[in-house]
Amino acid sequence: MEHIGRYSFREYLKVVEGFHGSQAPGLILGGIMVDYALSRIEPGILFDSICETAACLPDAIQLLTPCTIGNGWLKVIDLGLFALSLYDKHRGEGLRVFVDPAKLRDWNEISDWLYKLKSKKEQDKDRLLAQMEQAGRSVLSLRPIKIKPQYLGRTGKGAIADCPQCGEPYPIRDGALCLACQGKSPYMGK
Ligand SMILES: [Zn+2]
Repeated sequence: MEHIGRYSFREYLKVVEGFHGSQAPGLILGGIMVDYALSRIEPGILFDSICETAACLPDAIQLLTPCTIGNGWLKVIDLGLFALSLYDKHRGEGLRVFVDPAKLRDWNEISDWLYKLKSKKEQDKDRLLAQMEQAGRSVLSLRPIKIKPQYLGRTGKGAIADCPQCGEPYPIRDGALCLACQGKSPYMGK
């Protein structure tokens, strides 16, 4: 693996550390996955992304593509799977990249990491990252996908009004009160 997006492998490790706080293995393999998807997607199309786990992988997508959670082009649908897709945002056609268990046989460190067979302490991180660099795309598979219509496009919030209880603006479609006042707030006391 010589390049990840516009970075060399070494540069990418630095970028990851700056953004994510550490050279998290999931973000390194994730970078290789995003790079693979980018190299195969039809050139010039406007694409959106779905990430199937909330851990690490969304950050690789945000570092290497224009898709972010904030701009709405990246959706995290947490299926618990280490996989992502890029797809034409209008037609919904694209491709999905995932780690392929059948291809992990020669890469014990990657396999032990993915299946959580070693504690962080037991893990030889240098060896793990070296295996990821050497293995590159060889541990991945890619298949064409088509997005269900309900996942296409931007989901607007609709009309906004002040919540009768807390007074903050909220989407009316959520009900008579904002979701926080309906008991969904994570904070004590509100
Ligand atoms: Zn409220």
